[in-house]
Amino acid sequence: DQPRPSADAPIALELENAAKRYGETTAVDDVSLAVREGEFFTLVGPSGCGKTTTLRLIAGFETLSDGTIRFGGTDVTGVPPEDRDVGVVFQNYALFPHMTVAENIAYGLNFADPPGGVSDDQRVTELLELIDLGGMGDREPDQLSGGQQQRVAIARALAPGPDVLLLDEPMSALDARLRERLRLQVKEIQSELGITTVYVTHDQEEALAISDRVAVMNAGAPEQIATPREIYRRPATRFVAEFIGDNNVFEGTVRSLEGERATLEVGAETLAIDLEEREVATGDTITFCVRPENLQVGVGAERGGSGGENATTASVESAEFLGETTRVHLEWHGQELLVRTPDPLSGDVAVGFAPEDVHVVAVDRTASSR
Ligand code: ATP
Repeated sequence: DQPRPSADAPIALELENAAKRYGETTAVDDVSLAVREGEFFTLVGPSGCGKTTTLRLIAGFETLSDGTIRFGGTDVTGVPPEDRDVGVVFQNYALFPHMTVAENIAYGLNFADPPGGVSDDQRVTELLELIDLGGMGDREPDQLSGGQQQRVAIARALAPGPDVLLLDEPMSALDARLRERLRLQVKEIQSELGITTVYVTHDQEEALAISDRVAVMNAGAPEQIATPREIYRRPATRFVAEFIGDNNVFEGTVRSLEGERATLEVGAETLAIDLEEREVATGDTITFCVRPENLQVGVGAERGGSGGENATTASVESAEFLGETTRVHLEWHGQELLVRTPDPLSGDVAVGFAPEDVHVVAVDRTASSR
């Protein structure tokens, strides 16, 4: 799972101990992060976690309560937005309704000379091609679909050739189908230009689909910053494990250890898990997760292919038919267990999982270190 751009690419922008407070509210709480040149970096998290405020701090629309922001190594903490070389796109595309598409894009050039010494007209033509709206420069915004309008807004932000593109929920006003198409197009535009991009969304699936790296934010700060794969496979905290994708998160107490394997007491059950090189002692509490797709489900006495280990039973509470798969909510010792199956299920079912399909989220060593 190699990061792209490579880990030694230069840092394009950096927050160091950045904080933003509004009276009693801490919107951004001591955030340090670095975005590499050419990287597609996404801030994702639930409503109110501080994504938009972080983006506005980067743009310069808000001033820091504490900390430093650097662009390419230069301190820009006190620099106003117009001197920061950023292009910004918001949720509501806000194109000028009485200007043509070309005029809207050219408007982005009114504050700057187009890059590469081309004329304004050439630059607008280039950008129209880039956003796949070649020949549509004479239309007015209301003759375009929502997705097309949002691409024009992106072109307008890109017109002066900024170093950094900032996108705040640019797709949230669009329907699901359109969002999926637009996110591919945004990703394409970004990689064609190789422009450093910071993207804000509350949609975890979108974040995974579009980004080189993702910062999962909670209560004003990232809990994990990593590639989408790493975030999905190895969530660093319970919050990340539960926020990204469907998951089953459990706590258990270590009863015995054998090499890489621990035997845990989880409620009334005894389960075996792989420790993933975590240091653990008997008595420790382990928080671990198993993705629904890693749970094998069988009916009656037959068990899924977990080699007999971690075989248990649970009862079906409800099911959601999702087309290619069905997401089934099971009840298991008072906890919810999510599984995915191709077949409808009901009543009591056998559930199993392989010890190596578990990810250890956290180890609480209080008991053993006493
Ligand atoms: P959403 O997805 O709902 O936009 P968010 O993650 O972008 O949420 P922010 O908009 O950054 O979150 O807000 C973070 C916190 O700061 C929230 O509690 C919000 O109420 C508060 N906040 C943001 N802007 C202001 C402001 N101008 N004045 C006071 N509080 C603010």
